[in-house]
Amino acid sequence: MSEKTPYEEMGFRCGLEIHQQLACGKLFCSCAQDESNGAASSFFRFLSVSKGETGEEDLAASFEKAKSKRFEYVAPVSSSCLVECDEEPPHNVNDDAVKGALQAALLFGMRPFDCIQFMRKIVVDGSNTSGFQRTALVARGGKVEAELGRVGISTLCLEEDSCRIESREHHGDVYNLSRLGIPLLEVSTEPDITSPRQARECAEQVGLLLRSISSVKRGLGLSGRTLMFLWKAEAEWRLRVRRTCT
Ligand SMILES: [Zn+2]
Repeated sequence: MSEKTPYEEMGFRCGLEIHQQLACGKLFCSCAQDESNGAASSFFRFLSVSKGETGEEDLAASFEKAKSKRFEYVAPVSSSCLVECDEEPPHNVNDDAVKGALQAALLFGMRPFDCIQFMRKIVVDGSNTSGFQRTALVARGGKVEAELGRVGISTLCLEEDSCRIESREHHGDVYNLSRLGIPLLEVSTEPDITSPRQARECAEQVGLLLRSISSVKRGLGLSGRTLMFLWKAEAEWRLRVRRTCT
C-alpha cells in the first residue's frame, strides 16, 4: 500500500480561478491595447455608495467610502477614451471577444447560455472608474483531463480587466487606464484538486487549451503567475517530504 502524501493526510482540496487576456481590442470601446507610457491626461475621483435593488448599501463599499480615499487616474491618449473615464456609456460589446469566450467554452466541453447578459460586480478598491466591473457568465459545466484526475470547470466568464496600479498611498492610489476594459476570460474550476501537482497540471491544461484560441494574448499572463506560485508550492512540499524522511 502506497504511503499517503501530507496533502492527502490533511484532506487538501482546492479549485483555481484563472484569468486570461484576449488580444482583440477593448471590450466596450474601440481603443487600442497599448500599455506603453505615452501622452496622457489625469483626473481624480472619490468613491461614493448608492443603494442596490434590495434598498441596502454594500457593507464593503460603505467601509471603503469611510476611508475617504482620493483615486487619481492617468488616462493615456492612445489607450483610453470617455468610456474608460466613465463619462460615456459603454459601446456595443466586442464581437471577437464574445467569439473567443464561446470558443473557450466549447474547448472545455461547457454549455454556453442562449443569452449572455453583462452584470455589474462591485469594485471598492478604485481599480475601476465606475466602481464596478462588467462581467458576463458565458457557460457552465465543463472539465479538463489532467494526468492526476479530471477537474471540473464550473464557470467561464467574460469580463473587463481593471486599471493598472501605479502607486498605492495611505490616502489615495494612482491608477492607469491603459489596461481598463481589455477583455478577460475568467475560468473557475470545481474544488476537485487534491495536490499542488494536480493544480499545476490543471493550470497547464487550461493554459494550453486557451492558447489554441486565435484571440488569446501570448506571453506570460495571469495564468503564468499562477503556475509560478504552484511550482513554488510543489517545491516546498517536496522539501518538506525530504526533511520528514531524513
Ligand atoms: Zn476607450
